Amino acid sequence: MKKNIHPEYKEITVTCACGNKFTTRSTLCKDLHVEICSACHPFYTGKQKFVDTAGRVEKFQRKYGGDYFRKAEKSKK
Ligand SMILES: [Zn+2]
Repeated sequence: MKKNIHPEYKEITVTCACGNKFTTRSTLCKDLHVEICSACHPFYTGKQKFVDTAGRVEKFQRKYGGDYFRKAEKSKK
């Protein structure tokens, strides 16, 4: 059996935007940064992940009056 047929698999650290880190084996041989992982992906969690991209929440607030969000912000403080 020839040794050099298979690419080299190395253990890499994958860091997710949610803060989750895990190691995997990859031919990349370097650490990865992902925006979504099995810990926060809606497919795995069954929950919708709250991501405020490009001020979508702000637009929603303006459109619907934002009463819900104002209450939510008050309870945070
Ligand atoms: Zn994640």
